[in-house]
Amino acid sequence: MLAKVKTISAYMEELAPLSLALPGDPVGLQLGHPEAEVKKIMVALDPDHEALTEAGASGAEMLVTHHPLFYNMLSSLDESYPAGRLAAEALRKGLHIYSAHTNYDIAPRGVNFRLAKALGLPAEQGRIINVTGTEQYLKLVVFIPAGHEDGIRHAISQAGAGWIGAYSHCTFQTPGTGTFMPGEGTDPFIGSQGKLEKVEELRMETVLPEARKSEVIQALIKAHPYEEVAYDLYPLALEGESIGLGLQFDLEEPCSLENLLSRCRSALKPAALRCWDAGKSYYSRVAVCGGSGGSLVEQAARQGIEVLVSGDFRYHDLKLAQAYGLALVDAGHDATEWPGVAYLREYLVERLEADHYETGVSIQASASPAWK
Ligand SMILES: [Zn+2]
Repeated sequence: MLAKVKTISAYMEELAPLSLALPGDPVGLQLGHPEAEVKKIMVALDPDHEALTEAGASGAEMLVTHHPLFYNMLSSLDESYPAGRLAAEALRKGLHIYSAHTNYDIAPRGVNFRLAKALGLPAEQGRIINVTGTEQYLKLVVFIPAGHEDGIRHAISQAGAGWIGAYSHCTFQTPGTGTFMPGEGTDPFIGSQGKLEKVEELRMETVLPEARKSEVIQALIKAHPYEEVAYDLYPLALEGESIGLGLQFDLEEPCSLENLLSRCRSALKPAALRCWDAGKSYYSRVAVCGGSGGSLVEQAARQGIEVLVSGDFRYHDLKLAQAYGLALVDAGHDATEWPGVAYLREYLVERLEADHYETGVSIQASASPAWK
């Protein structure tokens, strides 16, 4: 069985919910058909000519990238412009393209988490540098015929509902009487058409992160015996975990700049590695930001961060960092994002296998020597 584009998109949205994207960032399915079946996926950093060529040559039918295909609105597919040329090339090759950009930067297990892990930093303990929001929670209330509650509780917990800290399957249930009258054309699980039914039901309530809404509702509907499932979703004012850009760490064992540079060299294999040393022998508050970290320099310095590893630092970022005494390591935009891209392959393989799909996943070999 082959996975459809919409199934692969749903897996991606579990990892990097679209709602996390920064305003105006064109994330999600860039090009293609949600119902199409996919034999092979290729993951890449950029949907560029090299990636499209390799995808076509290797038999891939879907490209999953970090950077989007369409940064700006197109009014035509004029092939004398790069965006039009790439889109036309992808269409000719029959490729579907999906991108998870700032939503994957911001996702709690996203680009920065993977970069931190690659550098041997304690990724689970990272604190956000630039908070863009907090995880939002919903209350789910569902009405269940008695005897079916355990199966449903298990299904929705597996999909991400009912977690409070390290406790899973957290629900509250109370018995009552549900009523309904099956109408014409129905195939009721209990009762018959045109007859008012009174059924012993349970009202089960639980919480879920808003980002898990579609998976939880899908799991609920699949596990529930009724043809039409009665459920409510309420927004909650609870504040969840902070989410945002960049991660900082307080190292138990401070490291030298040379040590950090050698971790970057071996883990990221950057084409170039630049640094500005703030003159400390050891650094204990270390931060990472995959891609372009220049806009975080001031916030990082004011939060007491001593060294920031990122890419794309400009002259004025360096001057600002120098003024604050913040050390900078520039390992390159692409090299700091590839650990996140490499994880997409691992993640998609795991999800597809768990659901018994035969769709294969490769990673672009022609992009960076480090990730072949
Ligand atoms: Zn980027």
